[in-house]
Amino acid sequence: MQIFKTIQEMRAACSLAKGGGQRLGLVPTMGALHEGHLSLVRTAKAQCDAVAASIFVNPTQFGPNEDFAKYPRSFERDCEILEQEAVDLLFAPAVEEMYPQGMTTWVTVEGLSDKLCGKARPGHFRGVTTVVAKLFQIVQPDAGFFGQKDAAQLAIIRRMVRDLNFAVEIVACPVVREPDGLAMSSRNAYLDPQQRRAAPVLYRSLLKIQEVFKRGEHRADKLIDSGKQTITEEHSVRLDYLEIVDPDTLDHADEISKTTLVAIAGYLGSTRLIDNIHLSTE
Ligand code: AMP
Repeated sequence: MQIFKTIQEMRAACSLAKGGGQRLGLVPTMGALHEGHLSLVRTAKAQCDAVAASIFVNPTQFGPNEDFAKYPRSFERDCEILEQEAVDLLFAPAVEEMYPQGMTTWVTVEGLSDKLCGKARPGHFRGVTTVVAKLFQIVQPDAGFFGQKDAAQLAIIRRMVRDLNFAVEIVACPVVREPDGLAMSSRNAYLDPQQRRAAPVLYRSLLKIQEVFKRGEHRADKLIDSGKQTITEEHSVRLDYLEIVDPDTLDHADEISKTTLVAIAGYLGSTRLIDNIHLSTE
């Protein structure tokens, strides 16, 4: 695996990797890699001739009181893991490389960026779309691989790609979970043992909604009530949102129809975790 810290070197290596019509895949990450990230890498390996990954803890997607400084960083270990997965190119730029002095251009997907996590995290999705647009410009991948775990992010990136005519296919990969159902996340490392035991209630509440749905209830408000009931089983979990929305527009759905997204976010102490499932009438 070749590792690059500068845009110029990464750009040149990607251009070479794409030579002769090779399909290049990109897996953007913030590092502290786990099996969720690796599922993206493996899907990319299966679908592409060459795979690039990036590790960049992107400061612009963190709010002023969020965890940018303490976000887990394990660069050496991450490199070993990506090497084992036979990733071809790794881009790991410094903050100054990605955001030089005087940078004033932002990519914002209006509307969608204020929904779901965008409500509690103003500016978060603007940071995400800006850095992903920059990575697409640098790597020029044929395909970008993203986790369904971050369902709003996925919808917003798809919209950006459509609106700005990026020549990138966006590939969504399923949520990878711990054996007890907790969605894998680099932030799970923040949980103390008591919080870790409580955390799977987020997924349990989604499963409860799925169960009630399968029994024939299609009304969103009733389904949300059943999910909120489950959340109350764990007093240490503070619900941020539990919403039923269209997976493309992130607009509220009154009923489950075709494919509908059920998304949840909750706090365990100061750690904010998210999860989601899809329900479908098809
Ligand atoms: P992050 O490093 O948290 O920015 O995540 C990088 C990519 O990995 C994003 O596309 C995430 O959606 C994806 N990802 C993170 N956790 C999971 C998971 N548990 N299952 C599937 N994909 C994930």
